[in-house]
Amino acid sequence: MRIKNIKKVGMITGFSIILASSIFVFNESRNIADVSNEKVVYSDISEQVKGVQHEKKQKEVKKKKPSKNEKGAYNVSGTLIVNKKYGLDEDYTYEDNQELYDEATAAFEKMQQDAEKDGVWFHIVSRYRSYAVQNWVYENYKKDREDVDTFSAQPGHSEHQTGLAFDLNGEDQETSSNEKFEGTEQYKWLRKNAYKYGFILRYPKDKKDITGYKFEPWHYRYVGTDISYDLKDGETTLEEYFNLE
Ligand SMILES: [Zn+2]
Repeated sequence: MRIKNIKKVGMITGFSIILASSIFVFNESRNIADVSNEKVVYSDISEQVKGVQHEKKQKEVKKKKPSKNEKGAYNVSGTLIVNKKYGLDEDYTYEDNQELYDEATAAFEKMQQDAEKDGVWFHIVSRYRSYAVQNWVYENYKKDREDVDTFSAQPGHSEHQTGLAFDLNGEDQETSSNEKFEGTEQYKWLRKNAYKYGFILRYPKDKKDITGYKFEPWHYRYVGTDISYDLKDGETTLEEYFNLE
């Protein structure tokens, strides 16, 4: 009698294991969404499904790696990328992207005119800087500033070498390339309107861990309206937008 019972229990257990395994194998091969909808109760199976879903998600958010073109500049989905990680070749100049440079000039002029109509005037403090000039700027800062890398780019890593970055200011010299620019009417206008012309705030607040730079309310980058409309909140970096490596 005892032996019979043990046999019975053994059979039932064995059967359950086979049943559970076959359900698992069956579910594994099916669409994840279908499995979720059926509310699978086996906790170990749910864990497995979660694992697969997580893996799938990881694949979707795989970071993008910009590629270097023959002119010596990194691009991702057709947009020029210059940051701490991706630099330009020493001989790269704005002329290597003349068409885009001219497009940016026209966009800026239109923006400047429209701002003036609203009674706001600003001008370009700094736009194109060659590799050599950037080298000079960086080395000069480095002499007496330990935190040089939080506000000045190493040669080859400045967006200004593309000619697509614009440092803007009004008449007040004190707000030129200075945090104080945030308090100006020019900044308010730009935050509200720059995206309409294809410009983005390149170094937003509290993004130093991503861009490597402190907040730069004066630095705008021309990216074209397709992207600038997506980034009009002025809180998302280009690195986050493209999910860069
Ligand atoms: Zn700048």
